[in-house]
Amino acid sequence: MKILMYNAVADELPYVKQWSEKTGHEVVTIDQPLNEETVDRASGFDAVSTQQTTSVNPPVYERLSQLNIKQIALRQVGYDVFDLPAAFANHVRLSNVAAYSPRAIAEYTLTQLFNLIRHNKKFDRAMAQGDYTWAAGGQAREIHDLTVAIIGVGRIGTALAEMLHALGAQVLGVDPVYRAQNEPFVTYTTLDEALRRADVISFHTPLNDETRGLADRAFFEKVQPGTIMLNFARGEIVDMSALELALASGQLAGAAFDVAPNENDFMDQKQTVDELPENIQRLVAYDNFLLSPHIAFYTNTAIKNMVEMALNDAVIIVNGGFTENEILR
Ligand code: NAD
Repeated sequence: MKILMYNAVADELPYVKQWSEKTGHEVVTIDQPLNEETVDRASGFDAVSTQQTTSVNPPVYERLSQLNIKQIALRQVGYDVFDLPAAFANHVRLSNVAAYSPRAIAEYTLTQLFNLIRHNKKFDRAMAQGDYTWAAGGQAREIHDLTVAIIGVGRIGTALAEMLHALGAQVLGVDPVYRAQNEPFVTYTTLDEALRRADVISFHTPLNDETRGLADRAFFEKVQPGTIMLNFARGEIVDMSALELALASGQLAGAAFDVAPNENDFMDQKQTVDELPENIQRLVAYDNFLLSPHIAFYTNTAIKNMVEMALNDAVIIVNGGFTENEILR
């Protein structure tokens, strides 16, 4: 089978080569996204794959159909780039990669939790000024003494819960969906009870009507003084001005964020600190606020899985089969 891979990035190429060698399918990579201008490049191919943030508009599905291409395999989670009615009207089947590596996000959440409880940013900043004393950072807490509330115990939340449990922490879970298989390492409870008991609160929910702005002023008032907050899910879950107040008052002992509201305005680009949005400038000035550029997912396993899962789905769909990653109407 011949597959055209749109918007291929350097990170993906070694895994494309390996997959091609393992399966015998030919994959041609190009660095443009799939759109009206590039769709004809698919002529003579059996399947296409892409990862992109720009829309795939209705004429593209019509042209793919004329080229006898019956699917698009997306190498990412978010499939809002597709026009589903236009794709289905042209009999173009769609797939995405819904879970490329929950552990990648869980491991990075844990990394940043350790960085916060060990005061690493404080020590690093002090050492950069020549201060190598213990007092520069202060005493740490140990992970097995902590109670961690995981809000959203899905794929990522479950992976994190397992790791924390293995390290001896007490794990509370808040989720409208109860998964009995998590009982050995999660104590399910209500949001209010979790906020009352937790030393650490970690968000792993999607952004939806209930989670948008969930961590507002009233939420911060319910947490224990000295709580740590982790947001590796979506920026809009936390009201950033309420977060700033909670850090300033000490209601929060620290916070680590891999996401932020309006992060597309400043993440994935280079700028000086004073070009950042003002609230982000204020937040990153805190020793106990850690910000990372939406990199929790960014591991070799995740990139490999994105490539392999999408290409496998392309083959399955072209051969008339069914995959759990297919986007259904
Ligand atoms: P998932 O669908 O497997 O799990 C989400 C869980 O949240 C589900 O169990 C769901 O029932 C629960 N949930 C929904 N509404 C809730 C609410 N109001 N309160 C409590 N729980 C609620 O998703 P996942 O794969 O674990 O991903 C979770 C989130 O992580 C994604 O939505 C995404 O925003 C984020 N994410 C971040 C990165 C990164 O690199 N930082 C990468 C991938 C995903």
